[in-house]
Amino acid sequence: MFIHKMLGFFAEDLAMDLGTANTLIFKKNQGIVLNEPSVVAINNETGQVLAVGKEAKDFLGRTPPRISAIRPMKDGVIADFDVTREMITYFLFKVKGNSKFSHPNLVIGVPSGITQVEKRAVIESALGAGARDIYLIEEPMAAAIGAGMDVDGKRANMVVDIGGGTTEVAIISLFATAYCESIRVAGDEMNEAIIYTLQKKCHLQIGENTAEEIKIAYGSAYPFEKPIRFQVSGKDVYSGIPKSIQLTDKDVREGMADPIWAIVDAVKRALEKTPPELAGDISEQGMTLAGGGALLKGLDKLLKRETGLMVRMADDPLTSVVLGAGKALIKSDFYAKVFIN
Ligand code: ADP
Ligand code: MG
Repeated sequence: MFIHKMLGFFAEDLAMDLGTANTLIFKKNQGIVLNEPSVVAINNETGQVLAVGKEAKDFLGRTPPRISAIRPMKDGVIADFDVTREMITYFLFKVKGNSKFSHPNLVIGVPSGITQVEKRAVIESALGAGARDIYLIEEPMAAAIGAGMDVDGKRANMVVDIGGGTTEVAIISLFATAYCESIRVAGDEMNEAIIYTLQKKCHLQIGENTAEEIKIAYGSAYPFEKPIRFQVSGKDVYSGIPKSIQLTDKDVREGMADPIWAIVDAVKRALEKTPPELAGDISEQGMTLAGGGALLKGLDKLLKRETGLMVRMADDPLTSVVLGAGKALIKSDFYAKVFIN
């Protein structure tokens, strides 16, 4: 069929996960060739792009006044079209080089709530960067394929993709999304909750990157067997003087309670709204977690306790979407129905 001819032909074809926190690119025959934060650093006065990706993320929270580190996809929608375009262009050139002869086909994972205008912006950016044909796939669908779920079967599957800016809960069967619940609460809100809690309770000011490091090292959704104590350094809110305090895993868990429960509630809501003829499959098969936010320690355990369902973690939650988009690219004939444009 048409898509097969267009997509199945070139060795340099690409699949991209345009995430709110991280952008990944998969190259046919090579696997994942790029994995960088979705961040762009800009000079406010001239509008000039100073850095993209890893280098730009280092600017977050420590930029001189004239420089902004922007996350153009932050809430799962395109907040800034121009910056998004710059970012896509930069990443594509980075993997495909500046060759005039390289015009890869491109499968792009996009949030399921994306508007027509946003779709067009993504497509135009990719075309502007030299892509030949663009095929969009919804991220929960890509995550499900990447996590090895049978999205083609009649049996329903539930996938929960917890990223940086959004959590998407989808029920998938017969190559289609039967139901999708999307909320703008995910890993970023956990970081923000840690920042807020330390400010309120300990009068300690910390930056976004420090909050993320605390979440990854000591954060949890379910109590550990043994409590953990650790030191955090930042600035005193009032005096501005650097200081260091001791915290426990419980402090962090309690601080992150709001975003964690918002995610649990979204999963419960999706279960309530699942069509009855699919609910039986979900109760037998449970759910699969994907996205970096799924790596929060104990989140699987909490979801299991709260829903009574089996909870499985995707093998590598941070790469499920790009691997799924890559699989759809390679087996484009089989997966033709999942492309949404
Ligand atoms: P997106 O698809 O929105 O770009 P990702 O799936 O890349 O998001 O996940 C990014 C989020 O996962 C970030 O909020 C990051 O802090 C979080 N994350 C990554 N690793 C861990 C971990 N080990 N524990 C908790 N959160 C994590
Ligand atoms: Mg994602």
